[in-house]
Amino acid sequence: RTILGIETSCDETGAAVVADGRRVLSSVVSSQVALHSPYGGVVPELASRKHIEHILPVVRQALAEAGLKTGDIDAVAATQGPGLVGALLVGFSFAKAFAYAANVPMVGVNHLNGHLASLFLTDDPPAIPFVALLASGGHTAIYHVTGPVTSTLMGQTRDDAAGEAYDKVAKMMGLGYPGGAVIDNLAAQGDPAKYAFTRPYLDKAAFDFSFSGIKTAARRFIQEAGDALAPESPHIAAGFQEAVADVLCYKLVHAAKVKKCGHMALVGGVAANRRIGEKLRHAAKQEGLVVHIPPPAWCGDNAAMIGAAGFFQLAAGAEPVDLSADVYSRVA
Ligand code: ATP
Ligand code: MG
Ligand code: FE
Repeated sequence: RTILGIETSCDETGAAVVADGRRVLSSVVSSQVALHSPYGGVVPELASRKHIEHILPVVRQALAEAGLKTGDIDAVAATQGPGLVGALLVGFSFAKAFAYAANVPMVGVNHLNGHLASLFLTDDPPAIPFVALLASGGHTAIYHVTGPVTSTLMGQTRDDAAGEAYDKVAKMMGLGYPGGAVIDNLAAQGDPAKYAFTRPYLDKAAFDFSFSGIKTAARRFIQEAGDALAPESPHIAAGFQEAVADVLCYKLVHAAKVKKCGHMALVGGVAANRRIGEKLRHAAKQEGLVVHIPPPAWCGDNAAMIGAAGFFQLAAGAEPVDLSADVYSRVA
């Protein structure tokens, strides 16, 4: 089955064509980073308007790159939530219109399940069951994944998301928005031991996270550096990143052990982080586990993962949505 995936939950307009939930025939992402960066974060109203401008060209390009026409699409999958309602509505409404015109079924995809489905776009997906850590701009959670569309939540952040902490710390250092990739690069030149960041494991046996303490520590070190911030930035970035990486790795490995899973995975925008990936691969080797991290293109928001999730939902017998279906900003 050939699925057209559509993603507009935040600040990327995405369309992709995915065959059988595994093979990406095309994936187009139009990012609005440049539009929002002067504001230091995503401005919802601007995001919706940009999605309206971009959705049709992006879908046309995805079809063209796949060498397909509207009539070749078997089903449409669009992100239904969670995310910015105005942004979601653009993609979801477009998908309804496309499905209606093409007379094909449409499924609504939970964006978080989309991130998990990014794992099936690789040549060797994790063996089910596995444990997965989703670390993104709005979420940080560990799941026990027992099927392509079934997972149970083991724990999540009690305050900031990991990506949110990256963005906030970058902003405090005057490095712009979004901050993940900037800190990733800056930290590579720093000494992670120069600043003493504590590791908030909370309950070491459990799977909840907290990143507000690490963020507050970063703020203190930045203030203490004062005028000398520039030369200290790489070290503060490295110390911050090492603390985040240690906690994420510890919890994911521990989850794999508790659930007796041989495979573990890291997904979401933060999964593109080089140091976290390095640490996780090292830990996996030591513990005799297999770790899966999608290539960077499938870590950040994209529509290929939405198309994959939609395929597996349909394969599992999910009901298509009808024209009265609505988007949702958060999971109830
Ligand atoms: P959610 O998926 O929770 O709804 P989102 O869709 O906005 O939120 P993603 O697009 O999955 O989030 O990820 C974006 C986040 O990933 C941002 O916070 C960004 O800073 C972070 N990020 C991107 N690249 C890196 C990197 N190399 N290292 C760390 N963080 C990164
Ligand atoms: Mg984004
Ligand atoms: Fe996302």
